[in-house]
Amino acid sequence: MNCWHIQNKELFRTFRQGINDNYTTLNVIIENNIVFIRGTLRLKDKNGKEIDSYLIEIEIPHNYPKEAPRVRETGGRLPRTLERHTNGDGTVCLYFRDEVYRYWNEGSIIIDFIKNVVEGFFLWQTEYDLTGGKNKNESWDHGVKGVKEFYGNILGTKDLKIIYRFVEYLSQKKIKGHWNCFCGSGKKMRECHFDVIKKYKKKIKRKDARKSLDDFKKDRKIVQVIKNKVI
Ligand SMILES: [Zn+2]
Ligand SMILES: [Zn+2]
Repeated sequence: MNCWHIQNKELFRTFRQGINDNYTTLNVIIENNIVFIRGTLRLKDKNGKEIDSYLIEIEIPHNYPKEAPRVRETGGRLPRTLERHTNGDGTVCLYFRDEVYRYWNEGSIIIDFIKNVVEGFFLWQTEYDLTGGKNKNESWDHGVKGVKEFYGNILGTKDLKIIYRFVEYLSQKKIKGHWNCFCGSGKKMRECHFDVIKKYKKKIKRKDARKSLDDFKKDRKIVQVIKNKVI
């Protein structure tokens, strides 16, 4: 399989140029046919004063720009814990899985991604250290808590049945207008919230919705709620 940097030389050229122009302490490296950005990420305050720095590696997937880059903290500074959104291998979770559409799409530019998403993430980490974790609430939860939070937010509800059905529908290959609406109105979707689910079907990847559905199914309490009170 040919990697994107060979298939799309022009894209790679602007990619590398962008990094060189904007980040003098980051380098673009090709290793085993994979493109990496490695080096020091310098964090600055509003006045341009450096406040912190991290050693990072950004791995660019083969099907770039379709899939989002993966980020690793390589200096060993971050505790490898869920609370710090850092996995054992140093990869970090920059956002809640199903929410990737807010941070990356096929038209995204790597420089903007580093500026807005990656720098934002590490700034949060620095603030975490400075405040002893007072900014904890500004980040998302893992597992079923995160799923409830994210979907509850976009639907404006805390009703588990509604959230569950919404995720269940999103994890289907095709969504049909004659299904009962996820909101529980008893109407068919095409007469109710069909536009809402169609909108998110486009944004949220099916494989991510399925993982969220699995998170729900693993939670016994939630399964109880769904079973007892389903319409
Ligand atoms: Zn996380
Ligand atoms: Zn509805």
